[in-house]
Amino acid sequence: MTTDVIVVGAGPAGAATAILLAEHGLSVRLLDRARFPRPKICGEYLSPEAPRLLDRLGALKAVDAVASPLTGMRITAPDGTTLVGTYRRIGSWRPYREHAMAIPREALDAILVDRVRSLPVDFSEHVRVTDVIVSGDHVQGVEALDADNRRLTLRAPLTIAADGRASVIVQRLGLRRPHRLQRMALVTYVEDVQGLGRLGEIFVDPPDYAILNPVAPGRANLSVVVPLAHAMPWSGRLDAFFAARVKQLPHLARRIAGGHRVAPVRAMGPLAYRVDAPRVGGVLVVGDAAGFFDPFTGEGIFKGLRSAELAAETAVRALRRGDVSAQALAGYDRARRRASRDKERLTHALQVVIAHRRLANLTARLLVRRQRLLDLLLGVLGDYVPPRALVTGILARSRS
Ligand SMILES: Cc1cc2nc3c(=O)[nH]c(=O)nc-3n(C[C@H](O)[C@H](O)[C@H](O)COP(=O)(O)OP(=O)(O)OC[C@H]3O[C@@H](n4cnc5c(N)ncnc54)[C@H](O)[C@@H]3O)c2cc1C
Repeated sequence: MTTDVIVVGAGPAGAATAILLAEHGLSVRLLDRARFPRPKICGEYLSPEAPRLLDRLGALKAVDAVASPLTGMRITAPDGTTLVGTYRRIGSWRPYREHAMAIPREALDAILVDRVRSLPVDFSEHVRVTDVIVSGDHVQGVEALDADNRRLTLRAPLTIAADGRASVIVQRLGLRRPHRLQRMALVTYVEDVQGLGRLGEIFVDPPDYAILNPVAPGRANLSVVVPLAHAMPWSGRLDAFFAARVKQLPHLARRIAGGHRVAPVRAMGPLAYRVDAPRVGGVLVVGDAAGFFDPFTGEGIFKGLRSAELAAETAVRALRRGDVSAQALAGYDRARRRASRDKERLTHALQVVIAHRRLANLTARLLVRRQRLLDLLLGVLGDYVPPRALVTGILARSRS
C-alpha cells in the first residue's frame, strides 16, 4: 500500500494529526524515535478547552479517568498578594469543561498513542528520522534509522513534522531561529505538600516564576523557570541549583515546606525559539516543531492539538486535489498563526508584567479587587474567551 502521509513524532501534535488523517481514510505512517510511554519535561497542565479537542480525537474518556480537575489558579505576586481565578462561564463564553486538568504526560501521551493504535495507522516506535528528502521544491519523505540501525528511505506526497522542539525536519529545512527570551525550566515532583487540591498555583518572583500543579493525590509537578544565564554556571549541579533557587522564592519555599522532592530535577533551555513557514511543498509543521515561547500560560499541548486539527484540514484538501505545493499548503500556516495571534500578544504582555517586580505587584493589587476581570483573564488563558474580550472588559472597568 502506498503512504499518503508520513508523520514524524507521536507526541500530542503528531498523534492527533495521525488520528485525524486516518479518520479521513488516508494511509498514514507514524514514526517516533522513542518507545511509549516516554518521559517528557512538561508542567502537565491542560487548559479547559483542550478537552474539546481530546473529545474530537476520541481520547477524552480515557483522559478523564486519570486527570485531576483544576477549578482555577492561585497566583501569588512578589509582595504576597494572592489572586484566585476560576474557570467559569462568563457571559456567553463557556469552557468545554468548567475546569482545567493536571495529567502526567506519560499518561496523556500513552492515551493518544493507544488511540492511534486502534486505527489503521502504520505506527513504528524506535525509528529515528535523520534527514528530510528534498527534490526540487518539494519534500519527498524522510531518511530514518530503525531499532537495529538499519537505514530506511520513506517516501510520501506529504510529510508532517511533529518532532518537537529539536525537530530534525525544521533544522534541515533551515527554518529555526533563536528567540531573545532566554530562559531555562527546572522540573521535578514533590509530595506531602499540605493543602494540594483543585487549584494550580503560580508564584511570580522576578526574574523567576514557579508553577505547582497537583497531578495526582498528594503529588505535584513543580516547575521553576529562571534566566538561562543564571543556570549555566550550575550545569552538572542541577539539584543544588534548584534547592538554592527555591530558597530565593520565599512564597514558594513556605508553600512547599514540609513536602519533599521525589524525583530528579530535569532541565530544559533555552525555552523559546521561532520557526519560519516552509518555503517548499510536501511538508507541514505542527506542535512544538512550529515554535515555542514560554510555559507560563501552559498552552503548548492545546496549541499542538489545534495545529494538528488545522494541518489535517489542509492536508486532506491538498491530497484530494493532488496539489501539495508550498502555495497549496500555505493556508495552514496562515490559519495557525491567525488562531494564536491575539493570545500571543497577551502572553507577550504578561511576560513584561512577570519580569518586573513592581509591575507584577501593581497588577496583582489591581486584579485582587476585580474578580470578573481576573476570571476573564483566566478564560482567555484557558482558551475559551477571545482575547479581545479582555480589552473590552478593561475598557468597561475603566469607564465604571
Ligand atoms: C518546561 C516546560 C513546561 C511545559 N508545561 C506545559 C504545560 O503545563 N501545559 C502545556 O500544555 N504545555 C506545556 N509545555 C509545552 C508542551 O510540553 C509542548 O507544547 C508539547 O509537548 C508539544 O507537543 P508535540 O507533540 O509538538 O511535541 P513533543 O511532545 O515533544 O513530541 C515530539 C515527539 O517527536 C519524537 N521525535 C523527536 N525527534 C524525532 C526524530 N528525529 N525521529 C522520530 N521521532 C522524533 C519525540 O520522541 C516525541 O515523542 C511545557 C514545555 C516546557 C518546556
